[in-house]
Amino acid sequence: MGKIIQSNQIVNHLYIHIPFCQKKCKYCSFYSINYDKSTVCQYLNALKREIAFYKKQLKLDLQTIYFGGGTPSLLDSVDIGAILGELDFHAATEITIEANPNTLNKEKLQAYKDVGINRLSIGVQSFNDRILNYLGRTHDAREAMNVIDLAEDIGFENYSIDLIYGIPSQTKEDFLADIKKTISYEIPHISFYCLSLDEDVPLYSEVNKLPDDELICEQYYSAQNMLKESGYKQYEVSNFAKIGFPAQHNLAYWSGKTYLAVGPSAAGYLVHENSTDYLRYCNSPDLDSYLKKWSIDADFTLAEYELIDKKEQESEYIITRFRLNSGINLREYERLYGGSFLELYKKQIDRLTQLDLVAIDRESVVIKSEKLLLMNEILLEFI
Ligand code: SF4
Repeated sequence: MGKIIQSNQIVNHLYIHIPFCQKKCKYCSFYSINYDKSTVCQYLNALKREIAFYKKQLKLDLQTIYFGGGTPSLLDSVDIGAILGELDFHAATEITIEANPNTLNKEKLQAYKDVGINRLSIGVQSFNDRILNYLGRTHDAREAMNVIDLAEDIGFENYSIDLIYGIPSQTKEDFLADIKKTISYEIPHISFYCLSLDEDVPLYSEVNKLPDDELICEQYYSAQNMLKESGYKQYEVSNFAKIGFPAQHNLAYWSGKTYLAVGPSAAGYLVHENSTDYLRYCNSPDLDSYLKKWSIDADFTLAEYELIDKKEQESEYIITRFRLNSGINLREYERLYGGSFLELYKKQIDRLTQLDLVAIDRESVVIKSEKLLLMNEILLEFI
């Protein structure tokens, strides 16, 4: 690995995958296994070794740390504190943990805050018990609301909830009821995602038909309007925040920053040893092989990575910047890729302008907010 990545590169962002869940949700394709305490202990030892390895290779100057999963909130605060103890995290402005509502109580939340967690990403998914049951979630709406109250009481100013739309049998009104509740609770940040099902998840075979595009559009754009009218700013296709609360860690991903990722199935993005290319790597989604690999302090080679050369970097720039409501920054594009975006892509821009899909000003090109669900079609013009 040391021979592949540029040594001593400065890395500001760290993702830590915690691959344990209480039970698999019926729609989920993320890598996780059932929680058991003894495996967690082995995992933490392996994780510490992986972190130690990278600390020798890189200069970690961490601004954001993100515990994702899986269900990181199954770990107690001592374990989270022990992981943070391996890192110099005191300059980090955002340390997030993903949490399922039924894994938290007042004491645990307070203890997370005490060890350094300053942002929660709560997997609410819906405030409707019928829908939670359909998705195979392990919590109910009352538990979700209770955790939100506790987060407020304890003084977590920065927290987010995830919601899902596009669920079979979920009406537009059902989803908007979730949005209304989010607004009434004045939740600082919300992410909402359309349900998509890989073939190997249990819900795939149970579902006869996913909602049609018309309902998906109605759900999405109605929610977008309600949030905007209530003081939320949309900063990414699926993300809305009150002023001061956009997710800094996720913004780093979408802004092309490098990040280290540790744990099975975690995917990172680092500078290649040749200094001009980047590489994207993905740890194998297999806890057993992860434990074996990190059972001793060892040098290791990266089995799977993809080299991101300048051309690929430019494509990724276009894809990720169009996700953001700030869009393609024309001056930044020219500085990075040495040409005018508007001239290089004149044909595409003319076509998209005629179709009224993008807005252009002196500084940027953005997808119009009322056309964001056409993003995939728009991106196909460029790649
Ligand atoms: S809790 Fe999250 S990671 Fe775990 S199974 Fe459910 S959706 Fe997947």
